[in-house]
Formats: sequence, C-alpha cells, structure tokens
Amino acid sequence: MTARIIDGKALSEQVREGVRLRTQALRTKGVVPGLTVLLVGENAASQVYVRNKAAACEKAGMHSRVIQLGADTSEEELLNIIENLNEDPGVHGILVQLPLPGHIDTGLVIETISAAKDVDGFHISNAGLLMTGRPLFRPCTPYGIMKMLESENAVVRGAEAVIVGASNIVGKPMAMLLLAAGATVTLCNSKTRDLGAQTRRADILIVATGRPGIVTGDMIKPGAIVIDVGINRLPDGKLVGDVDFESARQVAGAITPVPGGVGPMTIAMLLVNTIEAAERSTAS
Ligand code: NDP
Repeated sequence: MTARIIDGKALSEQVREGVRLRTQALRTKGVVPGLTVLLVGENAASQVYVRNKAAACEKAGMHSRVIQLGADTSEEELLNIIENLNEDPGVHGILVQLPLPGHIDTGLVIETISAAKDVDGFHISNAGLLMTGRPLFRPCTPYGIMKMLESENAVVRGAEAVIVGASNIVGKPMAMLLLAAGATVTLCNSKTRDLGAQTRRADILIVATGRPGIVTGDMIKPGAIVIDVGINRLPDGKLVGDVDFESARQVAGAITPVPGGVGPMTIAMLLVNTIEAAERSTAS
C-alpha cells in the first residue's frame, strides 16, 4: 500500500479563501479584522513564523501589525502593551509568539490577553471552555487537524485515536477535539511504555513530539490516517517531521507530509480564529 498524501497546502488555501470572503463581508460593514502579533527577542524561527502569519493576514484582506520588542523587554512592559491592545477596538486578535525570553512568565502573559482576543486559544479560560465542550477559540494546530480529517471524510466517531505528545498547545487540545467528535482517545507522553503497542491500535494517529522519526512504519496500523505535526531541522538543513515518512507511507492509508501538511493549516486556522473574533465583536 502507498498512502494518499494529505495536501495541507491546498486545503489551507481553500480555508484562506473562505476567510477572505468573510473579511470582505465585514469590510462592507466598516470593520477591518485586525491581528496584532507580539514578538519578543530575536529567535530566527519565530521571526519567520511571525512574518508568515502577518503575510497571510494581509493576503486575506485583514489588518496585521507586528510589534517587535527587544529581548531585554521587561515583563511589566509587555503586560502593559497587552493591556492596551485588549482595550483597542481595532484589534480583534492578539498573539504572543512563543517561546518568550526566560525572565518573562509565559503563563502570566497569556492570561493577560483578553480571552475574547486570544486567537491562539491558549488562555486558561479558553482551555477550560474547550475541555467542557463549549469552545470559543480552538488552538490553531489541532483545529487545522480536525479540518484535515474532515476533508479526508475520516470517520472519527468510534475511531481509535492515538496522540503521541501531550503539550498544552497540541496534544491536550487535540485530545479534547477528538473526544468531542466521538473518538476513543489515547494520549501518550515520554513515559509511555511500549509506544508501538499504542500507536499500532490507532485508526487516527497524531504525532507531536519534536523527535524526528519517532514513529516508523512498523508502528502504524495498515490503512491508518497519520498526521505528522513535528517540525524538525536536521543538521544538513532538511526539514522533517516526527514520522519516518518513507516507511510510514508504505503502511498508512493517508499521511501528511512535512513540510506542506499541518504547518500551512495552522496559519489558516489562525486566520479563521481572527475572523471569528472580529465577527463576534460586531455582533455584541
Ligand atoms: P513539546 O516539547 O511542548 O511537547 C512534546 C510532547 O512530546 C510532550 O508531551 C512529551 O512528553 C512528548 N514526548 C517527547 N518525547 C517522547 C517520546 N519519546 N515518546 C512519547 N512522547 C514523547 O512540543 P510541542 O507540542 O510544542 O511541539 C511538538 C512538535 O510539533 C515540535 O516539533 C514542534 O515544532 C511541532 N509543532 C508544529 C506545529 C505546526 O504548525 N506544524 C505547531 C506546533 C508545534 P512529556 O509530556 O512526558 O514531556
């Protein structure tokens, strides 16, 4: 068997086109959806991510603003900026690019963002709403993965879904979304005994560890849908996921590539969250 490749780039373009149309509709009412991204320090990867997010916003017709702050910015200064953005009616979404420098309390920063503008969906209220089945913002990566499963016509209800990696931004919210859709969910972490025994049960396998090649073909159930969230830069400069693509594609039914899989969907869903925030702000 050779797996179908799930084209995240093509699907993300469809999603972005939908956002563009919704943006146009809001503009006719005099509202320009706006996202502000805060970047603290000089992390090279973060700078690329922020640039891509801003460009995607502009392309959808939204207003985007990047506030670049020095690595020595104090926590208080950052919190003040966020509080001002919370009050600004022209700003519908606020995103603080992670990681932050060590002297800044990331949790405190995220909790200072107004939950109604928290387009990353990381605020504790948004995590709680998601957990209790009343999501306001769904974190972008898991939200994008749900869209990919939908586009594959995957049967989620009753499926065995195994997630490798249990971070607050990917694994845990992913588990909540899959559970809400009726899957039987297993969430694995670095202490999981016999990872292969877990992954081989999966009809839907999602891997988000940051460990290149942690899942190989022999750990996959024939015909499974495999979603590779990992983004790893090898010493030779090559970008790879957490799944060993060549062996996995011989066994899986469908698989996402890296790059061109989950990454573009994450950005597309950020735009969806921003347009949703802007639409909600006009409804109130
Ligand atoms: P974190 O480092 O926050 O979490 C990694 C998770 O993987 C932890 O739960 C950890 O377990 C688990 N883990 C680590 N080693 C193993 C192992 N050997 N077996 C089983 N589980 C293991 O990572 P993130 O969730 O932030 O990111 C994961 C990957 O996804 C990274 O490569 C990141 O770059 C990528 N990413 C990609 C995005 C995209 O848009 N495509 C978006 C976000 C992330 P434990 O809890 O025990 O420590």
